[in-house]
Amino acid sequence: MEANNELIFLKPILKERIWGGNRLRSEWGYESDLPGALGECWAISCNAQADCEITAGVFRGKHLSELWKERPEIFGAKPGEAFPFLVKIIDAGADLSVQVHPDDAYAKAHGAEAGKWECWYILDCPEHAELIVGSNAKTREELAQMVKAGEWGRLLGRVPIRKGDFLKVDPGTLHAITAGVELLEVQQNSDITYRIYDYDRKQNGKARELHLKDGLEVTKVPYRIREADVIHTDDIENKPQLLAATETYRMWTIAVNGNCDPEMNGDTYLLGSVLEGSGAINGHPVRKGMHFIAPKGYEMSRLEGTMRIALVAPAVSCV
Ligand code: ZN
Repeated sequence: MEANNELIFLKPILKERIWGGNRLRSEWGYESDLPGALGECWAISCNAQADCEITAGVFRGKHLSELWKERPEIFGAKPGEAFPFLVKIIDAGADLSVQVHPDDAYAKAHGAEAGKWECWYILDCPEHAELIVGSNAKTREELAQMVKAGEWGRLLGRVPIRKGDFLKVDPGTLHAITAGVELLEVQQNSDITYRIYDYDRKQNGKARELHLKDGLEVTKVPYRIREADVIHTDDIENKPQLLAATETYRMWTIAVNGNCDPEMNGDTYLLGSVLEGSGAINGHPVRKGMHFIAPKGYEMSRLEGTMRIALVAPAVSCV
């Protein structure tokens, strides 16, 4: 079978976190020898910390980083280009730290390769859940003063969410995932995080490091999220719903009920995650918890079953 006619399935990598929960085992069926709470599933990942293995097809047994490097034409990538994405499922048993990420320019000026944008698709959350996004500071001075005084309740912006919501977290946005929320996180492939506040928690008797200087420098002020910035996705079936189309990435979700042709013509490679249910993609069976890459040129023409999938692609102008 030709390489660009086949979906490339990947084995997720699980991570323990102090704030983790139990849903990655109990609801997603992922197995792990790690003894503690699982907080993250690195579902489509191509970096030194977690390099997903290909589980089926002609490239079975290879790691994603090897395929990306050896066969860039499968993705339509330029030789030497870095793999731009990281797809995770996050299960927050407790609140995650309040943090901020820099943009590319700041990251590069401070010794890192890339900054980080991220975006969230809410898979599950408690009733009346809110996420922390943005702040109520009007000036940089006010931001610094409120952080110094620990006025978190007054400082941090909050937005109500429900299952199926989507929101973007651009570089420079203060943010935190809150207890009980489960989400699909798509992000720039970078681990640069400036932690601003960690609820004074201790890990092995020690507080985790904060990065206030860089964090305050990159935080956008003023920046408040509005409820209108949250996209709701609960009522469209059998066609792709566009969630984001930025300078660097595009993202869709599709709720399949019966069958449909999503008219994804293969103009770029696609990253896919099955978030609910089961079905088939061009006749290939898939179910919740499976993650794949459709090579450039792969025409995704028939989705069947009862399932929800998320698709991510580079912006067309990037390739
Ligand atoms: Zn983040």
